[in-house]
Amino acid sequence: MEDSEDSGILERNWEALEGSEDHHRKRDSMIWIEIPPKAARILTILQENGFEAYVVGGCVRDSLLGRKPQDWDITTSASPEQVKQLFGRTIDTGIQHGTVTVMDEKDGFEVTTYRVDGVYEDGRHPKQVTFTASLREDLMRRDFTINAMAYSPSDGLVDLFNGVDDLRTAQIRCVGDPKERFGEDALRMLRAVRFAAQLGFSVTEDVLAAIRELSGTLRKVSAERIQAELIKLLVSPRPDWLRLAYECGITSVVMPEFDRIMEQRQNNPHHAYTAGEHTLVAMKNIPADRVLRLTMLFHDMGKPQVFETDEKGIDHFHGHAAYSEVIARQIMRRLKLDNETLHAVCTLVGNHSRYPKLNAFDVRKTAYELGGPEVFERFLLVKRADVLAQHPDVIAQKMDYLKALEHIWRDIKLHQDPLSMKDLALSGDDLIADGRKPGPAMGEILQALFMEVLEFPERNKKEYLLSRSREM
Ligand code: ATP
Ligand code: MG
Repeated sequence: MEDSEDSGILERNWEALEGSEDHHRKRDSMIWIEIPPKAARILTILQENGFEAYVVGGCVRDSLLGRKPQDWDITTSASPEQVKQLFGRTIDTGIQHGTVTVMDEKDGFEVTTYRVDGVYEDGRHPKQVTFTASLREDLMRRDFTINAMAYSPSDGLVDLFNGVDDLRTAQIRCVGDPKERFGEDALRMLRAVRFAAQLGFSVTEDVLAAIRELSGTLRKVSAERIQAELIKLLVSPRPDWLRLAYECGITSVVMPEFDRIMEQRQNNPHHAYTAGEHTLVAMKNIPADRVLRLTMLFHDMGKPQVFETDEKGIDHFHGHAAYSEVIARQIMRRLKLDNETLHAVCTLVGNHSRYPKLNAFDVRKTAYELGGPEVFERFLLVKRADVLAQHPDVIAQKMDYLKALEHIWRDIKLHQDPLSMKDLALSGDDLIADGRKPGPAMGEILQALFMEVLEFPERNKKEYLLSRSREM
């Protein structure tokens, strides 16, 4: 999600209504949201068949903020069976929770029957859900006021918990009593911080107090659900708001390793902050990509393990990258991240303190060893983000190095120098055609030739390589 100027339809609709009598009702009936035609069609079909239907939740919130909604969820008084009868193509997405996905060409819309959630079993899933005829009850089960608004073109905005006021004053507030709501589902505590980070909102004091008291109960929530919220926080415009999760006791439960670096001092000329504060700044310094943000989050987590203070009182962290990689792997396994992400992040974390020499051969060799040009480019971003989060006194000098490195890399790409075995101008088939027997020796020859062209790219010519291979 990108950062947005929070000046949506809300502001445009606002001025004429401010201070008027019956302020809320008038305002709500005048607020207008542009709904995609396909979602509007679903609302119309449901309403023409005698059911209530609204778009609800995130899409209403984001529209009012002038942000582009990710998806348009619909809430209705129709039962799942009735929804299925009315629409041609549907998928039983979560039929036991009342959700049916209505397909319109390639687009899917989740249509959920008004429901009341029971207590979430072990903080995971609602034990049972009960369908209800009341929109009010459906809105009451939702977590935050800004997420508990519904809208339809015929009825306008339905805002029973002053969500609009909280949007205007930029606040995350629970629907009802925070302690009760977190008691039903502990994940909501992490969601509060995630929405705050995405939107740049503050979390109300009663919500914060409840989180401080109940953060321990996040232990009951499944790794998958925690992972999803954590990643949304990390790729938000404010990844450094993870600090808020730390301050109110959330990270001590979901990622105690982070608390360790928040407490790790770095009395050393390269650093101006604790390892944790450095990490938060480094996350802000890198594009909002999950691999990159996770890399910055983990890159210094090994520091407490190798922490040493010399006789002059200077702190050192020799070899911390390898330890950080081990911790990163543990955390990502625990949070059940996919293997591809895990592997990509571990490579970057484990190599982040590597300094390629400022010559083309060493840079090509590093790119090859890291796993190719895409990884190397991410590596450059990681180094840049890391340097820019260090002590102001060392940034200039380290940036000179980085710029020189980036310059060499641009030349390498410009010349299309060979960087992997597949770029070699000679293949196994060429060797066979030249009379070699397939086998391990052949692989070794190709490898040796590749190492040669990595150093001397101008030698990457078939005839030359063939003649070299004959000498081997
Ligand atoms: P996003 O844009 O990130 O998808 P969203 O508001 O759509 O934000 P979802 O997690 O997709 O968030 O949930 C959709 C809606 O369902 C929310 O707006 C909220 O009304 C409700 N909701 C989701 N999860 C919970 C929960 N754990 N407790 C209460 N209500 C929830
Ligand atoms: Mg959503």
